[in-house]
Amino acid sequence: MKIHEYQAKDLFKKYGINVPSSILCDSKEKIKQCIEQINPPCVIKAQVHSGARGKAGGVKLAHNFDEALKIADEILGMELTSKQAGTKKVNKILIENAVDIDKELYLSLTFDRANEAIAMIISNQGGMDIEETAKIAPEKIYTELIKDNFNPLQTVKKLGYDDEINTQIVSVVNSLYELLKEKDALLVEINPLVITKQKKVIALDAKINFDDNALFRHEDILALKDEKEENPFELQAQKDGLNYIKLDGTIGCMVNGAGLAMATMDIIGLAGKKAANFLDVGGGASSEKIEKAFKLLISDENLEAVFINIFGGILRCDFLAEGVKNAIHSLNINVPVIVRMEGTNKDAGADILNNSGLKFTVVNNLNEAIEVIKNL
Ligand code: ADP
Ligand code: MG
Repeated sequence: MKIHEYQAKDLFKKYGINVPSSILCDSKEKIKQCIEQINPPCVIKAQVHSGARGKAGGVKLAHNFDEALKIADEILGMELTSKQAGTKKVNKILIENAVDIDKELYLSLTFDRANEAIAMIISNQGGMDIEETAKIAPEKIYTELIKDNFNPLQTVKKLGYDDEINTQIVSVVNSLYELLKEKDALLVEINPLVITKQKKVIALDAKINFDDNALFRHEDILALKDEKEENPFELQAQKDGLNYIKLDGTIGCMVNGAGLAMATMDIIGLAGKKAANFLDVGGGASSEKIEKAFKLLISDENLEAVFINIFGGILRCDFLAEGVKNAIHSLNINVPVIVRMEGTNKDAGADILNNSGLKFTVVNNLNEAIEVIKNL
């Protein structure tokens, strides 16, 4: 789960990390009053779950009061388009004191799963183009694994600052590490972490991703969830009790069991295509649940076909067929639907589909499925 910059900065404050003073504004009527509280020069920042807001026109410096009013009015309510996150409406802005920046650094802690450790990544080349630096000058990015004898100072010293600055950076690293551990975050990132002309180290941006599977033990974090920012399909799936993850391929899949779902994605790969989603309807799904799952699946705009791969154990194939038939009846579907069913009441399921008056390709095995998907 992701949170907004202003929420991440609140957490940073609790962990002793310096952030500029700021005020959140969520309506046009409040803009004037908010800017009066934060004396310009100030920076107006779109609060959307997206990186690179600066490049997309969502972060702007206002030198004086009138300019601040104009920029705030422009950014609040705008549609912000970025490469990573697509187009998002800006419902909230952060109005923040402008900081006198001397240097912009990059600092993050994240999981390095291959090395079974948390990695600290730090660089002098912070700001808006860290991805570019990673490509053209990777030697300017230092990575250190956090192990028992972790000593951030050694790495921080490589950046070439004096003791006063190094101590402040090390303190930020330690705070971030505490936050990551205590709140089960997968990533904490500050880009830029700035050194001001007054030699103060301040976090100007803040990004935190939390482990969804640990949210049950962090009510405070769960309360920060902004449903408007979540993928609407994934949100609907959570409400319907389905395990659904949106992917970027063209074959929609409906499967029961996570293992079979993964194998199905491999099979789609063997046919030279990519899955549009991961969808596990679970072991004992009812036909109503199947209907909901199917509706969710086909609301994806990029679909080329739907592949239903069900092993009928507790979930009977005739229940599945009934659910799919009902869903298709109530929807206007113009992509091919390929069904492979195996197990309990397989023949009854196939009869329901074949007699439904709707077009299904019922295949007998996975090799046949591959052939059909290949030739779409
Ligand atoms: P994003 O990473 O989404 O583009 P940032 O919060 O990193 O957004 O802001 C982009 C840039 O704007 C920063 O690299 C920094 O140069 C500048 N900036 C952001 N906040 C402030 C601030 N409070 N004072 C001065 N400059 C700022
Ligand atoms: Mg940033």
